[in-house]
Amino acid sequence: MTAHSAKEYRFRGLAVSRGISTGELHFKGRRFEEPKRRSIKPEQLESEEALFHQAIAKTRETIQALKDQLLARGGDHSEAHIFDAHLLVLEDQPVIDEILQQLRKEHSNVASVYYKVILRYIDSLKSINDPYLRERAIDIEDVAGRLLANLSNEDSGATDNETPHVLFAQDLAPSDTVGLNRSLLLGFATRLGSFTSHTAIMARALGIPGVVGLDIPKGKLQAGQEVILDGYNGVIIVNPTEETRTEYRRLSEQQEILNQRLEELRGEPAQTADGKSIILSGNIEFGHEVDLVNRRGAAGVGLYRTEFFYFEQDRQPNEDQQAKAYGDVAETVDPNGVIIRTLDVGADKFYADGRHAEPNPFLGWRGIRVSLAEPKVFKTQLRACLRASARGKVRIMYPMISGIEELRQSNAFLHECQEELRKEGIPFDEDVEVGCMIELPSAAIMAHQLAPEVDFFSIGTNDLIQYTIAVDRVNERVAHLYQPAHPAILRLIEMIVKAAHDNSIWVGVCGEMAGDPLFAPVLIGLGVDELSVGPSQILRVKHALRHLDSAECEDLVAELMTLQTVEEITERCRTMAKKRYGDFYQ
Ligand code: PEP
Ligand code: MG
Repeated sequence: MTAHSAKEYRFRGLAVSRGISTGELHFKGRRFEEPKRRSIKPEQLESEEALFHQAIAKTRETIQALKDQLLARGGDHSEAHIFDAHLLVLEDQPVIDEILQQLRKEHSNVASVYYKVILRYIDSLKSINDPYLRERAIDIEDVAGRLLANLSNEDSGATDNETPHVLFAQDLAPSDTVGLNRSLLLGFATRLGSFTSHTAIMARALGIPGVVGLDIPKGKLQAGQEVILDGYNGVIIVNPTEETRTEYRRLSEQQEILNQRLEELRGEPAQTADGKSIILSGNIEFGHEVDLVNRRGAAGVGLYRTEFFYFEQDRQPNEDQQAKAYGDVAETVDPNGVIIRTLDVGADKFYADGRHAEPNPFLGWRGIRVSLAEPKVFKTQLRACLRASARGKVRIMYPMISGIEELRQSNAFLHECQEELRKEGIPFDEDVEVGCMIELPSAAIMAHQLAPEVDFFSIGTNDLIQYTIAVDRVNERVAHLYQPAHPAILRLIEMIVKAAHDNSIWVGVCGEMAGDPLFAPVLIGLGVDELSVGPSQILRVKHALRHLDSAECEDLVAELMTLQTVEEITERCRTMAKKRYGDFYQ
């Protein structure tokens, strides 16, 4: 511990990966930088071209090696898939042709030609006001940086840092995160990025604390400075005082104890202190995550987002492939069951080839609209879900239902599939339950009409909030307006629960709101029967549930309904959470 007189600074960003780390600050330089331009003679053209092809081959090897490295470290296939996307960028033939053409025209060294062409692509992507496309520009920069390093024969390895450190970067490209030596990396902090960026996803998968979106004035940070990175609250503290260090040491120790305590809850029932049972299940995006859900003692899978399984493949998975993937999950969680949500492509969930690119994708061709317009794709998936139901408990759920017509059309396709399978003598569960997500305000308002035609509802608060308050869920500029505690949201949930219970069906919540222990009292008080949460939240939510009293939660909701502002509502929720499980709110 060094005594120091430098002033302590705190900078706030977005917490994307939990954990606290203390250490030296190191900088990550950007590799995508303009190389020196040199003129070349016509007779040198051939060797420049050869150099370019060699650099592509070498870059391909590096990307492949990084992918293998990630998989060997136990990273999952979704992250490894990022490198497949990088390979596509690297080998994009029209871009390669354009570079070779420019090279012949300009008679400059291939590195400077390459930089110019790629920069134009990156700039045009960055100029579009779309966080998804801005993230893709980072991917291209990453690949281009590697290729430029290979063209100049530089080492394109991720870092030469040899002491444990917190890494600071403008952007941290996904491949950088993998290339880092984990035993030395204490955390990462970046100026850019969002919760949904590849880097954030990968950091969480690798268990590295992370804070992104840090707005730090130039010159405020220096390599070698002592920092504390707080991945819980999204803060980086530069030159922490002895007092701050002590405070954070205590926090880390507390967190460790809490994690151990949570582990002990695995086998305990998910019920309130007064004995009201809640179905606590897990959300998954990839089949293999089901093991995590099981290990944390959840009651099966409450949301299987199947679109990620589609993206993983080079082409649309066929019926057999889907039936196998869904059946494997169903078998693993039997008898609890899995709720398979039919394809919800569009909006923030794209096909890699951008086939759904639209100017206003959240209001566009998305979810059930795509399925109903492409019956072949839809029926293939429905048949696969039904076939999987012969191997374990399966429930089928439709996303983005806006009203009764879409629900009836979807059910008609399902009945068609059931009829076909019967005729073909293929076994399936004749009593398969069917539900729909309630994530559009129109569906919430008409929930009483939808309820008699399904077996359950699952409230998708992620979309319900964005469509009700008109706040883009992935736009960092309006993130402060994205408020689960908005009185309108509470009223909509209340309406949905009433519609469900009046029609004797159960209702769950599978949006991120369900995974936030702050809102557990409200959701319980509102009468929700099931909470489906990300695997990392299962035990935290169970802990919260087990400390709540259901009658007190109902009283809380009655009080919240008399309040007008988000602030007042949040404050009451916080008071209850602190009172009941305050050790999680320090
Ligand atoms: C939701 O909208 O709350 C939800 C769970 O669906 P997704 O996040 O996949 O849109
Ligand atoms: Mg949704």
